[in-house]
Amino acid sequence: MRVIVTGGAGFIGSALVRHLVLEKGYDVLTVDALTYAGCKQSLTAVEGKTNHRFLKADIRDSAAMAEAIGSFRPDRIMHLAAESHVDRSITGAADFIQTNMVGTFVLLEAARGYWNGLDAQAKAAFRFLHVSTDEVYGSLGADGLFTENTPYDPSSPYSASKAASDHLAKAWHRTYGLPVVVSNCSNNYGPYHFPEKLIPLTILNALEGKALPVYGKGDNVRDWLYVEDHARALDLIAERGRPGETYNVGGRNERRNIDVVRRICSVLDVLVPTEQSREGLIAFVTDRPGHDARYAIDATKLETELGWRAQETFDTGIEKTVRWYLDNMWWWQPLRERYDGKRLGLDGKVE
Ligand code: NAD
Repeated sequence: MRVIVTGGAGFIGSALVRHLVLEKGYDVLTVDALTYAGCKQSLTAVEGKTNHRFLKADIRDSAAMAEAIGSFRPDRIMHLAAESHVDRSITGAADFIQTNMVGTFVLLEAARGYWNGLDAQAKAAFRFLHVSTDEVYGSLGADGLFTENTPYDPSSPYSASKAASDHLAKAWHRTYGLPVVVSNCSNNYGPYHFPEKLIPLTILNALEGKALPVYGKGDNVRDWLYVEDHARALDLIAERGRPGETYNVGGRNERRNIDVVRRICSVLDVLVPTEQSREGLIAFVTDRPGHDARYAIDATKLETELGWRAQETFDTGIEKTVRWYLDNMWWWQPLRERYDGKRLGLDGKVE
């Protein structure tokens, strides 16, 4: 099996590459532009493996994409490259439009050109997995879950750009027959998560005795999934998902942001005791504009049709994650020094 993974130097992409290269033994080409969010150190575990290659390239570069796909000749393309941080999309949407929308269009076209030249058997077996987010569905009230039939209603420039890319991917299936499958997943957490995101930011600030910023009152609810459970789901969807279909991915682990932050404090207080609980560091900050109240995924289709189950609960996954950050300072320290709070969208406005 030959697989191209775009965005493979990112958080979820690197977990997927580790899974495909080390667990499955597939031949993998990672394509990544190494933006601020891309980190080759996240691929240390596959460095030197004969079944892994890395190409630094931008998905918006149509010649580079055609060349990469044409020469590697993949059975699958798994597309994760994206601008992914909601706060950054609010202060500067242009990169999100360019990479998430234009980049996805360029990649779909390059894939279509290659796919058109395959023989009938290879054409039928080929898959283009477009990896997306549950944020395309907008916000839920206190009840209900996002299903694959929930209408799109994105709130942020990030989720709007991802929604547009989902529509492009589905149109390339309906119009041209390209065997596209789309996955929409809830919030991920785990090792190699860029230090600007809520969970790693909380772990690292708590370790350093810094304020733990929480938007609004911390009431916003997210449905958390351990990143390695997501990587297994993506492999399964690419292998057995039906072209033209969407699969929702989620861990049935709804938590209020404030409870996530408190849980991290209590895990850290046990692993690295301090005189006072780190909960005292929690600082409520001005809410993000357009902040969705609640996301929650109904993953029944993935569970019943493809037999996927999350292996981690939130409690087991968060403890693994905290331990990983404690043991892997070599990975996060340089990133933290480079980006420390500068573009976290919080502007130091601690209330
Ligand atoms: P990330 O920001 O950690 O990684 C994105 C990667 O894409 C980086 O390595 C970056 O260098 C690369 N990239 C960015 N622009 C590029 C370009 N123009 N050309 C080539 N490479 C480029 O993101 P992530 O959290 O790993 O998310 C991966 C995918 O999964 C995204 O499509 C995201 O929308 C989706 N997703 C993320 C989550 C989550 O909780 N993180 C949940 C659901 C879906």
